Amino acid sequence: MPYKSFEEYNMKVTDDVKNRYESIIKDLGEDTQREGLVKTPERAAKAMQFLTQGYDQDPVEILKTAMFKESYNEMVIVKDIELYSLCEHHILPFFGKAHIAYIPDGQIVGLSKLPRIVDVFARRLQVQERLTEQILDCINDTLKPQGVAVVIEASHMCMMMRGVQKQNSITTTSGFRGQFEKIETRNEFLKLIGK
Ligand SMILES: [Zn+2]
Repeated sequence: MPYKSFEEYNMKVTDDVKNRYESIIKDLGEDTQREGLVKTPERAAKAMQFLTQGYDQDPVEILKTAMFKESYNEMVIVKDIELYSLCEHHILPFFGKAHIAYIPDGQIVGLSKLPRIVDVFARRLQVQERLTEQILDCINDTLKPQGVAVVIEASHMCMMMRGVQKQNSITTTSGFRGQFEKIETRNEFLKLIGK
């Protein structure tokens, strides 16, 4: 169901998560009956379901709905795709940009589908390294292009707000398949995204 809007929340999950948030907020020393907090457990439960909705979505189906035969065989780049995810070690956000390129081999994909599959994989508990690989493999295995490249640059709240408290560090991950394993092709892509 790739196009289902996320307005209907699962009542049972919402209720279970809400009750747990209520006890977590108490354990952290707050008064859950305070005016501003009364509805917080329910809001948090819905927010977390929204932020992890990628588990219920199928990225392969999303790509397959918009693949077209086409003879164009030069590099296609979608850069600066906004990305928001949750680090699976601390359940804190990491966010930044993804840059994706591929070289078609007889078929192209609707450009809006690339940001969509970034969202599907990002809206799960993640590490940036696996997120990069999953986007790469999904495009490679489904579209079967001559090559595909993914670069992700992200800031991690678990580094910025806690731990080492490095506010300005950006983590970069990248992966390359097919033609992009050649140094010239890879360098052309990196140059075009300004790296
Ligand atoms: Zn973390």
